[in-house]
Amino acid sequence: MSKIDRTHDPLRRSWLPSANDGHTDFPIQNLPFGVFSREGEARRGGVAIGDQILDVAAALRLGLLQGEAAQAASEPQLNRLMAMGLGASGALREQVSALLSEGSLATAEADRILVPMRAARLHLPVQVGNFTDFMVAYDHCHRLGMVRNPQAPLPPAFKHLPVAYHSRASTVRVSGEPVHRPNGQWPREDGQVRFGPSESLDYELELAIWLCGENATGTPVPMSRAPERLFGYGLLNDWSARDMQRWEMPPLGPFLAKSLSTTVSPWLVTAQAMAPFAIPARARPEGDPPPLPHLDSTQNRETGGLSIALEAYLLTPRMREAGEAPQRLTATDFATMYWTPAQMVVHHASNGCSLLPGDLFGSGTCSGPDTGAEACIAELLLRGPIQLPGGETRRFLQDGDEVIFRGRGHAPGAVSIGFGECRAVIAPAPSWPD
Ligand code: MN
Repeated sequence: MSKIDRTHDPLRRSWLPSANDGHTDFPIQNLPFGVFSREGEARRGGVAIGDQILDVAAALRLGLLQGEAAQAASEPQLNRLMAMGLGASGALREQVSALLSEGSLATAEADRILVPMRAARLHLPVQVGNFTDFMVAYDHCHRLGMVRNPQAPLPPAFKHLPVAYHSRASTVRVSGEPVHRPNGQWPREDGQVRFGPSESLDYELELAIWLCGENATGTPVPMSRAPERLFGYGLLNDWSARDMQRWEMPPLGPFLAKSLSTTVSPWLVTAQAMAPFAIPARARPEGDPPPLPHLDSTQNRETGGLSIALEAYLLTPRMREAGEAPQRLTATDFATMYWTPAQMVVHHASNGCSLLPGDLFGSGTCSGPDTGAEACIAELLLRGPIQLPGGETRRFLQDGDEVIFRGRGHAPGAVSIGFGECRAVIAPAPSWPD
């Protein structure tokens, strides 16, 4: 776990006023990495601060940042920075924090090193090598499992390992790109199997976990080394076509119902920035098996969890036209997860599987125990159709609907930091080519 240092000091302020307004996702205590471009210009790396982006390449040219990590953070993909590991990204964070702090001489160069976020386009910051989606929320599995089989609602392995499947890296896309409703097949009410646009497209509110460093094939990662593989975090929408999923899942698991598209937020909120929000791993209820020794450590029990408030909102075409605010559908917290990110790393590599810089984990649908903490529509529908302002209702997502995720690390005495948005509009299914 990263240490608390002066970059987290709640009294530290930026010379940029929008970073100090108390509401921004990007105060000086955050400093997430991303990739942006301006109209007609090449993609390059940046750091979010208030309503601006620090142009890392411009700061390098002016001599305001130095070193190999800063070079890597200026590139159009951040894999090289992630390969350098947490030591390098942590040292760069200290440089950037000093540069943007009150009293820094860099304020004189503000016009040359800052780009307004509203004038920039944000890109997928990483060449995603592999994408694995976990299922670590007890309440998600239990709530849906109770409908299928109240005697045994959880998968048999759930309390023994963080369950996961290999998903698709090629369809991971950045916030803002539309998601096309997929075509697929499943049995209809008349029993006939037909092919056509999914009728039950769902969102899954998940944490994105970005990996750094590398373990060679055949070399597992012990719990003591797992935290140094966690580069940072974001928001992830594991779009799911439930009709296709139910039909294709047995016995090999999710396939086309999940690979249709995955949306991630554009900023990599670093492990260092998340240090103040580390909490004990969720305590296991009496009677649950303890994790096997290779998935357990004192450090993980004490600081393996994360306090992150996660929200999902829906904006329908009618609400958009009427100028209404998006309606919140989900309010949950990563704190209630049954397994921690470090345990995901150790389990994933426990058979000798290599994990690479730029690999992506989804946490699984982050549902919590409370009403309103259901983190996908399939769970929300257990309480009946979703009621929206203006008399609208929803079962699953309709074309033109926009799903918006937000997330914030929160802890007493710490400056709260945000993840930015993860959003996408549902576009109609493509017509089948001739
Ligand atoms: Mn998922």
